[in-house]
Amino acid sequence: MKLANHVYGQWVEGAGEGIALTDPVTGEVLVSVSSEGVDVARALEFARRTGGPALRASTYEARAAMLGAIAEVLTAKRAEYFDIALRNSGSTEADAAFDIDGAIFTLKSYVRAGKSLGGARHLKEGARVALAKTDVFQGQHFLMPLTGVAVFINAFNFPAWGLWEKAAPALLAGVPVFIKPATPTAWLTQRMVEDVVKAGILPQGALSIVCGSARDLLDHVGECDVVSFTGSADTAARMRTHPQVVANSVRINIEADSVNSAILGPDAQPGSAEFDLAVKEIVREMTIKAGQKCTAIRRILAPSGVSRALADAVAGKLAGCKVGNPRSEGVRVGPLVSRAQQAAAFEGLAKLREECETVFGGDPDFEPVDACASMSAFVQPTLLYCDKGLAARHVHDVEVFGPVATIVQYADTADAIAIARRGRGSLVASVYSGDTAFLGELVPAIADLHGRVMVVDAAVGANHTGHGNVMPTCLHGGPGRAGGGEELGGLRALAMYHRRCVVQGGPALLEALSRDAADAALLGN
Ligand code: NAP
Repeated sequence: MKLANHVYGQWVEGAGEGIALTDPVTGEVLVSVSSEGVDVARALEFARRTGGPALRASTYEARAAMLGAIAEVLTAKRAEYFDIALRNSGSTEADAAFDIDGAIFTLKSYVRAGKSLGGARHLKEGARVALAKTDVFQGQHFLMPLTGVAVFINAFNFPAWGLWEKAAPALLAGVPVFIKPATPTAWLTQRMVEDVVKAGILPQGALSIVCGSARDLLDHVGECDVVSFTGSADTAARMRTHPQVVANSVRINIEADSVNSAILGPDAQPGSAEFDLAVKEIVREMTIKAGQKCTAIRRILAPSGVSRALADAVAGKLAGCKVGNPRSEGVRVGPLVSRAQQAAAFEGLAKLREECETVFGGDPDFEPVDACASMSAFVQPTLLYCDKGLAARHVHDVEVFGPVATIVQYADTADAIAIARRGRGSLVASVYSGDTAFLGELVPAIADLHGRVMVVDAAVGANHTGHGNVMPTCLHGGPGRAGGGEELGGLRALAMYHRRCVVQGGPALLEALSRDAADAALLGN
């Protein structure tokens, strides 16, 4: 079966044989995708001319209701999506829930937030600015929805959440969505789009999808569009410098890779609640989605006095994790999504091993449960240990996109700060400590290079939301190497789909324009 693209209000099958999508456990070919012959320029223009105006004829409140209806459709089809995730991504039940339930949760969060903007059509920012000696001539800042299209180029690891965490704020803002999912796992994204389009919730042109190669997509983006990319740093660099993006100053948001840290404070000694909480979270992060999360813990910074005990504790727990076919009872860790990803992970692992010792895993003869090692895409969960601190290179530079993490010992707080910063910009760092002096020094010293810092102590305990979990109400994105993008953060995300404009004129005009506006201060809520 070849998956159809949805463009210019039609279902269009791409030409040719297409690219096969496979089961990473068995190697079975499942479906194929093709973008050959799709007129991308026409698709984008249809979204701009038909989808955009129809969306913006509604209010924020009405569009929030559309998001609610989408969440209902996805909830009703949840079991089918879990099946696709199992077959095409090798997802365990927990892995699939992370992606699919995460998508529904995020949509629902935007339903609630969007309602607070009421019947407005744009946003008014701040008070009027005096520009003359009397009030006859003033300025008012507005945030106006973009009249272009939101083009999403997504990564393979979140086919469900990756679409809806971007689409929810875009649609709420009144901007039509064009999604190009990553090819290896495009099936789930395509099925969700198909279900939502067929449910007739959105106006025509509000949601388009093209599966397969991106081809000339970026040649057709314009000044009123937004490109939101999630993927590797290499592809990101190509997007950023694309001539059309540069020539038209196209707004571009990049979520790239990241060598995230978990940091144990000096008080996180074996036997402490902080130590145990760190061990639990490290193991969870290494195993959920087989480590294929942009936010996953890659480096574990521990005081040199506890780093060996930490290695033993994490290794002990990893030894109890069953790795193999997710259809098999008790399996906790599934495969990577493809043999290509497996090969990339092995390559990265080999580099890390040049400067690390292996504490657990990394066995070349590792046999997954109920799967053929030579046909499947498994990587054994692997814990490495590095005693070189800042002098190491690969540990701080190479993101192995799989169940692999490295313990890096540090000497003192300044050393921990320097090592965390050596990631050159990360999505997240989690800190396990109740030592206020340590936290008071460390957190501000790493904050400018991290999109999110999660601090867990004995009082927070199990109530934290998770190192790798992206909450729709909190910012997602990171500086530097992580791409410099910003997503989510509640209504803050709407800023990307609006453009600030100050209108200078008489008070009657400004009053009239303000009548249909909600207060932009609500974006901070
Ligand atoms: P990728 O190879 O960079 O691909 C990402 C997307 O870009 C895919 O849809 C791909 O399409 C497309 N693409 C590739 N070349 C293109 C081109 N020349 N023009 C237009 N589109 C192009 O990344 P990936 O392997 O899918 O994803 C893994 C990476 O994503 C990891 O490094 C991970 O850290 C990062 N990630 C980051 C976040 C975050 O939020 N920061 C979230 C998830 C993943 P095809 O699949 O058709 O090649």
